[in-house]
Amino acid sequence: MSQPAIQSNTIYLKVLRPFWVWFGRAAERVFHPVEKLFYVAVVKQISWLLDHIDPLSHRIEGTLFKKILQVTIFPLFMTATVVIGFNLVKGGYTSQTFIASIGMYLIYGAIWMPLERLIPFSRKWLKNSDGSTDVMLLFGNKICGDWIIVPLQFATIAIVVQEISPAIGQSIWPSSLPLLAQVFLLLVINDFFRYWYHRWMHENSFMWRWHAVHHSSERLYWFNGTRSHPLERLVNGFLWAIPLAFVKAPVEIVFVAYLVSRTIGRFQHTNMDVILGPFDYIFSSPKNHRYHHSKNMREGNTNYGGDVIIWDLLFGTFYLPKGKQPSDDIGVGDVVNYPQSFVGLMLAPFNHRALQKQSQAPVKIVAAE
Ligand SMILES: [Zn+2]
Ligand SMILES: [Zn+2]
Repeated sequence: MSQPAIQSNTIYLKVLRPFWVWFGRAAERVFHPVEKLFYVAVVKQISWLLDHIDPLSHRIEGTLFKKILQVTIFPLFMTATVVIGFNLVKGGYTSQTFIASIGMYLIYGAIWMPLERLIPFSRKWLKNSDGSTDVMLLFGNKICGDWIIVPLQFATIAIVVQEISPAIGQSIWPSSLPLLAQVFLLLVINDFFRYWYHRWMHENSFMWRWHAVHHSSERLYWFNGTRSHPLERLVNGFLWAIPLAFVKAPVEIVFVAYLVSRTIGRFQHTNMDVILGPFDYIFSSPKNHRYHHSKNMREGNTNYGGDVIIWDLLFGTFYLPKGKQPSDDIGVGDVVNYPQSFVGLMLAPFNHRALQKQSQAPVKIVAAE
């Protein structure tokens, strides 16, 4: 009985493993120059411009002006997202609505970048060496989304709507509620599924290897919410389609909830030192999400909410100690020197055990805490 096991092990060591290593090196050779070029041509130039804000950032330290910024930025952008969102979708959802929403986030990004410089949570996180990788991940996920995820979502919605949900009908959605309450309700319903999927990815070792890509970032900033493996996104997108098909919310509510979710996603990962106060107990906020990115597994396996933090409060995974600030030493807790290049991140889930083996000592440190 042991013979086939030995044979398959030999095939792996002699054929598959060398091929895998060769494939990884070849892919690096193709993508590394693209990453480098993008870094020099775009990321480095933007960083040079932003460097000019640093002296002003030191000057406003401890002033009332800074405090006002810290408290008002989040509610301001959330209100703007809702107001602009409902205006964009007033005449129904068209391709113009879609293009305008992309333009909106480009403008938001142009405002958030200098604001992160002006009121940073961590000055260490201002060093931009991973921006080009995150942009490539965004495009990689976009291609994967357009070709695989979106068709799969439509197919799922079509099947659920046609086969299962007619019995439930439109009446399930409380259209008489105020629009804002409807948006919030949809976020809460969607996040129930996201919560359990996210928690499963942390608590199951096979799932963790895919999700670790999202946690690989060594700094948090507004754009790195895009950092995740396309295969993780595939399942995520598939799960999202089911509640949407069931509840049959009006298109304008779905669209605005989607925009609000994106704004929360950007804030969740921002390096702006914003103060949310009571909102830390409602939304998945920068402060509670920083704990989620902790290398310490005990802190990292908390605050799973994607948009709201309500399910964490309900299921006992909420973590926000009073009088304490999250550390800015973040990353993958069970792997030291996690790959940071585009190709390295794409292949890392397939090599996770090998990466763990190379990191024996830090695993012990995490477990001993
Ligand atoms: Zn996570
Ligand atoms: Zn995150």
